[in-house]
Amino acid sequence: MEYPQWGNGSVNGQAHSGTLLPDTTGPEVHLVGGSRAEAIKLAPVVDWMHRRARMRPVLVDSGQHDSMFEQALGSFALRPDLRLRNDQGCTGQASHAEQLSGMVRLLDEHLMLRRPAAVVAQGDTTTALATALAAFWRGIPVVHLEAGLRSHNVRAPFPEETTRRLVAQVSTLHLAPTSRAAENLRSEGLGGSGVLTVGSTAVDAAIRVSGRPVAFTDPRLEAVEWRARCGNCRLLVVTVHRQESWGAPLAGVLNALTTLLQRHPDLEVVLPIHPHPALRKQVMTGLFGTDRVHVTAPLPYDAFCRLLSTARLVLTDSGGVQEEAPIFGVPVLVLRENTERVEAVEAGCSVLVGTEHRRLADHVSRLLQDSADRQAMVYAGNPFGDGHAGHRVEHAIAWMLGLEQTPPCPPQSVRYTPSERLRTE
Ligand code: UDP
Repeated sequence: MEYPQWGNGSVNGQAHSGTLLPDTTGPEVHLVGGSRAEAIKLAPVVDWMHRRARMRPVLVDSGQHDSMFEQALGSFALRPDLRLRNDQGCTGQASHAEQLSGMVRLLDEHLMLRRPAAVVAQGDTTTALATALAAFWRGIPVVHLEAGLRSHNVRAPFPEETTRRLVAQVSTLHLAPTSRAAENLRSEGLGGSGVLTVGSTAVDAAIRVSGRPVAFTDPRLEAVEWRARCGNCRLLVVTVHRQESWGAPLAGVLNALTTLLQRHPDLEVVLPIHPHPALRKQVMTGLFGTDRVHVTAPLPYDAFCRLLSTARLVLTDSGGVQEEAPIFGVPVLVLRENTERVEAVEAGCSVLVGTEHRRLADHVSRLLQDSADRQAMVYAGNPFGDGHAGHRVEHAIAWMLGLEQTPPCPPQSVRYTPSERLRTE
């Protein structure tokens, strides 16, 4: 376990907000993450804790995904306050059991030493489960951020559907992104007054970075983004990171992309992909000889949002992207057979298309050709909150700790058009 020195550091040349500054007062709240998605969704909460300055946020890197957590925090000028060294659990080959056992042991040691007033576990990762269990066993209240998402199928997403349910069992405060997620928890008999609807902090994060003059390090992306903005090409952004998408499902997606590039000569594809050797090999082999496809390393969050905002459509198996794309008015085609973000499907901003080659290619072609269908998705609105979730989360935790008299009010449903949103930035 590595404890940092007190004081400021520097991230990307900007002053780091220094969560462990000695003059910060109030109870310590430890926010634990290990993946890119956790960093992005925890950052707005840390930001609000700094602004209100009545609790001391401590960002803990569980070490689940090498540098992904830290890289994503960089887009918010944050960095972890401490890193757990989970040597057996962070090799990329480690089983869930190895990851979980290593993390629980380290977190237990850490929580025993620091005794925070509360811990925040985000979402449905092994890190979230380890955090929740370690805190629960030490009698420390667990705040579950992004609580209540349910696909109602324990096999998909696997193991995340069950991980969320387990975290919910030991949580004191359940912070749901939508009223549907809160309803899911209530219908399972969980939470009582400890279930609050706060919105998705992914919306806050995307709004925070959108419109930044961020540069791409890869010159191909500068060029393709410019062509897309000038109307000289139509851009498809594709992300496929889930392990269950590798193999046959990914082959279906790659075949569909090849077909689409043949059908639409002005189409270009950007595919940021995890640098896992087997995954990279499958992508490079599947797209061999295809022009107008740009395969890149995972992009920094602000650069990814810049690219996403220029896309005609996004094809993704990611949860976070399903929440962010509607903010930019980009229709989402979900490369899965089910989703726990049903709200987006019902609102009309995303469609479940799966990964079958013909079905996927035909659906994309239809949206590219039929502007009425695409426009309906563009203007469907964003069902995941109003960009003030981080503020509500801070308020809710303060309420749980007795620093506020009443809990925060839920967000109103948001129905803005993308252009209205961009004007308010
Ligand atoms: N993302 C990113 N760079 C990329 C691709 C995605 O920063 O090259 C962001 C994306 O905006 C989203 C998050 O990563 O907020 C999603 O993470 P991931 O797909 O790994 O996890 P999930 O959301 O499915 O839990």
